[in-house]
Amino acid sequence: MSIEKEIKDLRSQLHQYNHEYYVLDNASISDYEFDMLLKKLQALEDKHPEYSDDNSPTKRVGGAVTKKFDTVMHQHRMYSLDNSYSQEDLQAWEKRIKKVIEEEAIEYTCELKYDGASISLTYENGVLLKAVTRGDGFQGDDVTENIKTIKSVPLRLKGNDIPSKFDIRGEIVLPFEGFHKMNDERIALGEEPYANTRNTASGSLKLQDSSEVAKRPLECLLYSLVGDQLPIETQFTSLGKARSWGFKVPEIAVKVDSIEGVLDFVNVWDTKRHQLPYETDGVVIKVNDLKQQELLGHTAKAPRWAMAYKFKAEQVVTTLESVSYQVGRTGAITPVANLTAVEIAGTTVKRASLHNADQIAKLDVRVGDQVYVEKGGEIIPKIVGVNFEERDVNSQPLAYAATCPECDSVLLRTDGDAKHYCPNEQSCPPQVIGRIEHYISRKAMDIEGLGGETVALLVKEGLINDFTDLYDLEVSQLLPLERMAQKSAENLVNGVAASIHIPFEKVLFALGIRFVGETVAKKLAFHFKAIEALKEADQETLEGVDEIGTKIAQSVVAYFSETLNWNRIEKLKLKGVQMVIDESQLPKVSSSILDGKIIVVSGVFEKISRNDLKKMIEENGGKVGSSISSKTSFIVAGDKMGPSKLAKAQKLGVEIWDEERFLLELNDS
Ligand code: AMP
Ligand code: ZN
Repeated sequence: MSIEKEIKDLRSQLHQYNHEYYVLDNASISDYEFDMLLKKLQALEDKHPEYSDDNSPTKRVGGAVTKKFDTVMHQHRMYSLDNSYSQEDLQAWEKRIKKVIEEEAIEYTCELKYDGASISLTYENGVLLKAVTRGDGFQGDDVTENIKTIKSVPLRLKGNDIPSKFDIRGEIVLPFEGFHKMNDERIALGEEPYANTRNTASGSLKLQDSSEVAKRPLECLLYSLVGDQLPIETQFTSLGKARSWGFKVPEIAVKVDSIEGVLDFVNVWDTKRHQLPYETDGVVIKVNDLKQQELLGHTAKAPRWAMAYKFKAEQVVTTLESVSYQVGRTGAITPVANLTAVEIAGTTVKRASLHNADQIAKLDVRVGDQVYVEKGGEIIPKIVGVNFEERDVNSQPLAYAATCPECDSVLLRTDGDAKHYCPNEQSCPPQVIGRIEHYISRKAMDIEGLGGETVALLVKEGLINDFTDLYDLEVSQLLPLERMAQKSAENLVNGVAASIHIPFEKVLFALGIRFVGETVAKKLAFHFKAIEALKEADQETLEGVDEIGTKIAQSVVAYFSETLNWNRIEKLKLKGVQMVIDESQLPKVSSSILDGKIIVVSGVFEKISRNDLKKMIEENGGKVGSSISSKTSFIVAGDKMGPSKLAKAQKLGVEIWDEERFLLELNDS
């Protein structure tokens, strides 16, 4: 079998397995077998870039980095939907329809309204061409690279009757299970959890690094075909058609012949929706017959043939008993309402978020008030209003906490910040413990043998007050502690000792500098290469680094301006913790191994910038070529190499190296 055929066969097998697993929920091979096939394909593609394909199943893992999303015009406008909230609204809508369609019977399709981010996918000749956000309805952002990482989006269609070009519209949603998992991880890292699935889903679409998107368990639910001369006559049958081509179209859809039928569907799903794995916020009712739809047309904003019916967010009334204040790792204060226990959407609720002082003032909520509590898309219920008629005449406005509930320090609030802070970084227990917990966490120093409870105990016993103190711990000090056996004490000490091998970029993240998350830490580490250089960098220098904005730059400068932080770093350095980037990961400077070579650079790179790459070529004896010709020795290609360049390279048989290979070859020489 030819290599090309082998690659193509593997691709179509993998497309099929993906579809079985992610769309049909019915896998026919094990995860392991799947991974093996994918690895095999990846290896073949690496060896034979001439057969590369943008829609290969290997592209699902992401990797492409988009600096700025291109704006794309929608071929067919993406309309909004009119909303209705009652039976009367729906009947009034039917009346309007019947004025236009007088003679014929009217059928409706009822679907759920999925609560996520809308998306338009364009397919040409059965292949995914583009994925664009709704934007303002006329034009949106090209998020194709990110959408490709969502496994239930078919990259290649199957079946019959597929129009040569069409758009399909749907919603990108984040199912609860994955959402909660993401939040658990964030909480473990001392980060603020995401508030709801909708914003998290739409935020995910705009991440610059598609491999980050690939890690998020997003789903794409589709509901509408758009195009010229499509082989469909009704909305309901089009759903089946789309399903047969490989799209994930929820089965929860019915065809009814009256508004009464619509209401039956609404009533069933108003409660049953709580059992679904993803968020829904209503029902969408569409006139089923596409010819009737055409007759009805659109208003300036929405189709006349469709209507959203919004479920009421479940609301209950209960008493606000007290307000307490939580202190996070960074000292940020969050007010929490303590309520008389009450049932909402099947769960008992005792607490609700109050966000910050402004929110409390806006609601004018007071202790003893009867408050309206709602559980919408948010995980934490919120107070949406106060029943002022029931308010006690003697009630007083709520005085926001002046001091920290944990350490009594006077709280501060800086201009432009919605939250109050406890400034007592050094000895406010949740901050002390939170910082250490962050330091040892999996994505930071990954210290084995030490968990959150032990950290709290060690702090309480006065053995540590700072993550740098971990390195002074001795087995003999630990043994007297509750539930601490010889073995676990040894594990703890060994775990801490082993952390000196953790690479610099993770150490930088572990320090817990505000706004310096995992990705930013990596960027800064690779750019500055050593902690001293980062310390020396001023605001302007920092902002000159890719993806580093004002907020992050300010925070880094502020961090290093504190002697205490620098003392911590000095101490870690003495203990052997990595404060420079591992040289073997870095490009080598100056050699003659590229002597006489002409090298073309194309695309976007991950580890080094294009400019650094060009500099490296020159420092190692090579010349940077501006365009591909028969004289080109090879091309270093990142993501997003242009298709015309690729074609030219293939035609001339010029070898293409990726970033990894280039760095490897330079370093191995
Ligand atoms: P709105 O954003 O409130 O104007 O509602 C319109 C949006 O509802 C559309 O842009 C879609 O993103 C979304 N939607 C969710 N489910 C459906 C569905 N089954 N049919 C049509 N639109 C839907
Ligand atoms: Zn405090």
